[in-house]
Amino acid sequence: MSLSREQMLAEMGITPIWRLRDSAPVGDRAGEAVGEIAGAALEAAQSPAQPTVAATVAPMVPSAPATAPTAAVDALDWPELSRRVADCKLCPLCQQRKQAVLGVGDRRADWLFIGEGPGADEDVQGEPFVGQAGKLLDNMLAALDLVRGDKVYIANAVKCRPPGNRTPEAAEMAACRPYLERQIALIQPKIIVLLGKAAVHSVLHDDKSLASLRGRLFDYQGIPVVVTYHPAYLLRNLPDKAKAWEDLLFARRTLRAAANSGAELPF
Ligand code: URA
Ligand code: SF4
Repeated sequence: MSLSREQMLAEMGITPIWRLRDSAPVGDRAGEAVGEIAGAALEAAQSPAQPTVAATVAPMVPSAPATAPTAAVDALDWPELSRRVADCKLCPLCQQRKQAVLGVGDRRADWLFIGEGPGADEDVQGEPFVGQAGKLLDNMLAALDLVRGDKVYIANAVKCRPPGNRTPEAAEMAACRPYLERQIALIQPKIIVLLGKAAVHSVLHDDKSLASLRGRLFDYQGIPVVVTYHPAYLLRNLPDKAKAWEDLLFARRTLRAAANSGAELPF
């Protein structure tokens, strides 16, 4: 059974939870040529670790491990990455944050959702997507039979709250990007879902309209990437929820196709 677009809209608009009625993909676009690959080669953003300065006085403690504060972000493990982000002052967003918000969820997640940056609630609670937009994201996850924390990791393009919830600037996203890249490398998700323009800018380096990027498959270092609307945008533009739902189904089909063909991706 598949729902009509109108039924799906009603379903998503009226009920608090998006529910799949059928395990068969709704509005399946099977047979449609699967996307195109964006040039996703990202700059190696990290400078190498600084050379160790020879000590002139015999140290009282064992020499620092390879991952001392000067270590490149792309060499950090989770505890070191958490610490580095918590203490980060690399961009002006550090000045008004209550705390940096690294991310939340399963560190071996299949699904990685990436938003823009913490809002007021996230800044207080230290967890991404806990406000109104977060409730919608949780409902979107529920519609896919997913829950936050189980096979799902949620992160943001910037880890500190932009004052007044403004869009993060390109330079702020660039400063924070190595942390996101390290999260992706550590998690190795099977699918990345970019929520809104900031995430697209940060991961795909693309500033085209979301409308032109949706429904296409991109590649980030061998990981399939799909693009959809940000939940906060969807709260203001309810009819576009149906499009977001299509995008999530596209993401799930992509993930399943990848799983069914072993390591082979459909591009
Ligand atoms: N919006 C985002 O992009 N991220 C959050 O964590 C919360 C709201
Ligand atoms: Fe550092 Fe990112 Fe916070 Fe800027 S937003 S201070 S780069 S953690």
